[in-house]
Amino acid sequence: MTPLEALIAVQAHDTTIDQLRHKSAALPARAEVAAIEAQLVELEGKATDVGAQLHAIDRRQKAAEDEVASLDAKITELDKKLYGGTVSAIKELQALQADIDSLQRRKREVEDVELAAMEEREPFDAELGVIDAERSRLDGVAGQLRTAIAEVEIEIEGAIADEVGVRDEARALVPPVLLDEYDRLRDKLGGVAAARLEPGGRCGGCHLSLPAQEVARIKRELPIDALIHCEQCGRILVRVEA
Ligand SMILES: [Zn+2]
Repeated sequence: MTPLEALIAVQAHDTTIDQLRHKSAALPARAEVAAIEAQLVELEGKATDVGAQLHAIDRRQKAAEDEVASLDAKITELDKKLYGGTVSAIKELQALQADIDSLQRRKREVEDVELAAMEEREPFDAELGVIDAERSRLDGVAGQLRTAIAEVEIEIEGAIADEVGVRDEARALVPPVLLDEYDRLRDKLGGVAAARLEPGGRCGGCHLSLPAQEVARIKRELPIDALIHCEQCGRILVRVEA
């Protein structure tokens, strides 16, 4: 294989490697995972909102429970006085009974608040349940996608490693000066540094045709292994042996 033919082989393998890297980066599953991650962030926000609502309801319920406990304690205390025998004046006993009745009324009111809070919780609890179930489901799907991505990545990495091996064998056949130019052009020209001079005088890199006179001159004056460049794009042009 001539150095220029080897260079075309290097280019072919580099192009394949570039395509494999692009395939890996552009796996549709990656976009799906990103979309799921966005959904999960949104659900987390919703869960936080619902959690804040539940927390507010819990505080109200706890305050009501505390007040009921404190009312119970007061009622017990007054009951003791009422029936303890230490108070005997009718008016005082009536006043005690009136206080107890008033505390009992208040207790019923607060118990209603407590019940209302418990009922108020229900839709938020249900919503949180739905959100949690959806989060678990999405976590599961994302996990499967990540596993699938990892499997394809291993496969692609293997294919890249094979290509790199064959490419490096071809590189060994290309003089270092030519390789330097090739590497520089590849960086500059988006991956394609060497191309065929196609039949009809077209550059296989930029697909523009060289002037017919120029093609004729090349064929007439230059040996097949002479280093030539496309006038339009600057790529190394390799002629087909004929
Ligand atoms: Zn060109």
